[in-house]
Amino acid sequence: VSNKSAQASEFLSKLSSIVGADQVLTEVSECWSYGYDNSRRHALPEAVVFPSSHQQVRDIVLLCNEESVPVTARGRGTGTTGATVPVQGGIVLSTERFDQTLEIDRDNRVAVVSPGITNKALQDKAGEYGFFWPPDPTSSAYCTVGGNLAYNSAGPRAVKYGTPRENVLGLQAVTGLGEELRTGTYTTKGVVGYDFTRLLVGSEGTLAIITEATLKLTPKPEAVQTMRAIYNSMESAAHAVSAIMAQPVTPCALEFIDGAAIQMIRDYSEVDLPANAGALLMLEVDGKQDELASYAGAIKTAATNDGLTEFTVAETEAAKAALWKTRKALSPALRKVAPKKINEDVVVPVSNIPKLIMGLEQLAKQHDITIVNFGHAGNGNIHVNLLTDPSEESNRVRAEQCLADVFSLVLDLKGTISGEHGVGLEKQAFVARELDPVSLRLMNEIKGIFDPNNILNPGKMFPARDAL
Ligand SMILES: Cc1cc2nc3c(=O)[nH]c(=O)nc-3n(C[C@H](O)[C@H](O)[C@H](O)COP(=O)(O)OP(=O)(O)OC[C@H]3O[C@@H](n4cnc5c(N)ncnc54)[C@H](O)[C@@H]3O)c2cc1C
Repeated sequence: VSNKSAQASEFLSKLSSIVGADQVLTEVSECWSYGYDNSRRHALPEAVVFPSSHQQVRDIVLLCNEESVPVTARGRGTGTTGATVPVQGGIVLSTERFDQTLEIDRDNRVAVVSPGITNKALQDKAGEYGFFWPPDPTSSAYCTVGGNLAYNSAGPRAVKYGTPRENVLGLQAVTGLGEELRTGTYTTKGVVGYDFTRLLVGSEGTLAIITEATLKLTPKPEAVQTMRAIYNSMESAAHAVSAIMAQPVTPCALEFIDGAAIQMIRDYSEVDLPANAGALLMLEVDGKQDELASYAGAIKTAATNDGLTEFTVAETEAAKAALWKTRKALSPALRKVAPKKINEDVVVPVSNIPKLIMGLEQLAKQHDITIVNFGHAGNGNIHVNLLTDPSEESNRVRAEQCLADVFSLVLDLKGTISGEHGVGLEKQAFVARELDPVSLRLMNEIKGIFDPNNILNPGKMFPARDAL
């Protein structure tokens, strides 16, 4: 939106004519909250627009492309890396009123939805037909399917059922030129052309705006069995993770909490855990009721090694809830200790988890920062939490040096710097460490083809051009 007020008001009146005046916000007080996400960064958009159809999204992008106005797509702003923060101004395109379930096709295990539907609303709808959509971020009650796709967000179930990339069949989308495209197939097999569906998934709103998603549903399991294994050392727990993943019964959750995190739960909650526990695993298997005992037995066998000190199987719903209470107590405990903590989500091959954790212990000592680790061990996706207050200058400098070392460690261990939170603004500076120069150049060229005027979420995901 130009500074020149006549041009600006003409632009806003064109915007209003696309969606209706009541679907456009322009007051600073109303636009303010659409400038944040969970990274706590903020930039004020010049307007917020609420389309409710594919046509409206297309017309908005056509207008913005003509007038060179940046467009930042936004689901519910629960992302943690600043990808929805409109750092170059322009408009925020919120999908929160574009939230229909268009079809649940039971015979073909397919759901077709608008991008603004929340993950939970989709699960509820699919559940009525006996299905679920596997991606299950902890924020599911609030985050949108569009946001899940644009970040490739997932949760504990990814270890067995995969991330959005494995659970989406096709998309409808609008490029930065306002061109409309359909990607992928309605079928679970298909190999015609390049795979634009999986290119758009994880592209953080920089290539196209998703206006419809055709999703692969999975039948709900009959029953779930929950278990907890406690180890005297981190290494024993990490070896158990590799052993569990190497046998045929894949758990539908394999979550890991390290010794420092266990101590924090003991200190700041009522949850009863043994003192000096080195690490614990939360495990779940699912399937038919009469299969679960044998699945749980196979998991227990694989989880057993010299360091196992306790293995608990939840026999009742109450016992299951009690076991998960441990995991749920962790976030509030961490918030109490370090409200401004830095939370990374690195990934390493499961067999390298012990080396990662040992390396992190060394870095914690070297940089004098408490580091607490937990996460989706079955995928090697570990949330590395630096318990520090980066708003204080000396802490910020130490945390930055520590983070740079954490990412080097992860890359040396054949890992990746983000498993689910994405790059946004937070990890831009580190992308060139993971991607080779040719990949970066090709990605830049792809961005130029989808969005030649760089209006879609500009300034995100890649290092600034002059930093390359
Ligand atoms: C309490 C809490 C728990 C969380 N737990 C998890 C977790 O377990 N696992 C996990 O992976 N993440 C987690 N997250 C992070 C976050 O919830 C997810 O990344 C989520 O997918 C973001 O959805 P959103 O609708 O809020 O998207 P936003 O934050 O609004 O947007 C995210 C990205 O998607 C883009 N986007 C949104 N809609 C579209 C569209 N229609 N077309 C194109 N681009 C679009 C945006 O431009 C931005 O780049 C958590 C966050 C919180 C606050």
